[in-house]
Amino acid sequence: MDQKNWPQSLNRMSDSIFDLQQNWSEWRNQWIALVEENQRLKLENEKLQQLLTKSSSKKSENRKLKAESNGEGLGNLKRLYQEGFHICNVSFGRLRTEEECLFCHSFLQK
Ligand SMILES: [Zn+2]
Repeated sequence: MDQKNWPQSLNRMSDSIFDLQQNWSEWRNQWIALVEENQRLKLENEKLQQLLTKSSSKKSENRKLKAESNGEGLGNLKRLYQEGFHICNVSFGRLRTEEECLFCHSFLQK
């Protein structure tokens, strides 16, 4: 370090450290968001796998039955909602993170 210019050098170093801190916290926030998204997707995937397994075993049992009526279709949607998924057209098929969804409720009351 040049003896005369040390205050400038010090300023540059502290700027660099500040930039590094900012980059670090941006990176950390992105990482946290990715981890959260990953956990949400894992959970959603597990639930969907369970539903798929249930549904395919039920289908083979009910293969002889006729096509579903509207009442049964609504029943399936209610079940899907109770399993923790959205059935509203806003977020259909996504895992519900909040307890209740007003859109889903209004759909069920139609
Ligand atoms: Zn919903």
